Amino acid sequence: MATYDDDNIFAKILRGEIPCKKVYEDEHVLAFHDIRPQAPVHVLVIPKGKYVSFDDFSAEATPAEMAGFFRAVGKVARDLKLDAPGYRLLANTGADGGQEVPHFHVHIFGGRKL
Ligand code: 5GP
Repeated sequence: MATYDDDNIFAKILRGEIPCKKVYEDEHVLAFHDIRPQAPVHVLVIPKGKYVSFDDFSAEATPAEMAGFFRAVGKVARDLKLDAPGYRLLANTGADGGQEVPHFHVHIFGGRKL
């Protein structure tokens, strides 16, 4: 499994070194708008822990981190009023999965029929 890079862009966002358009934050997660939206609503949800990818997170995160993360993904989608029309979740994982930023994140896409 890849080593976590403390200089990745989402680590810098978590440390407040780079700004983001924050949607939600709690002890486990930060959610913010994607800088290059691919849908009317395109939000990224990231854990605060240092996890490289979904593979890393699913293997190493504590039960509290996992529950906190996935509860927050659902809450963010509901807060954005996406639950009734529906939405899409995506977690690009690793090189073949097209993952660009090596800090685990889930994309939430919505706001139109996908
Ligand atoms: P991946 O391909 O790793 O699943 O997606 C990374 C996402 O992060 C892309 O959709 C990209 O637009 C977004 N992104 C990259 N750099 C930044 C940034 O500095 N700020 C924000 N808000 N999003 C970013």
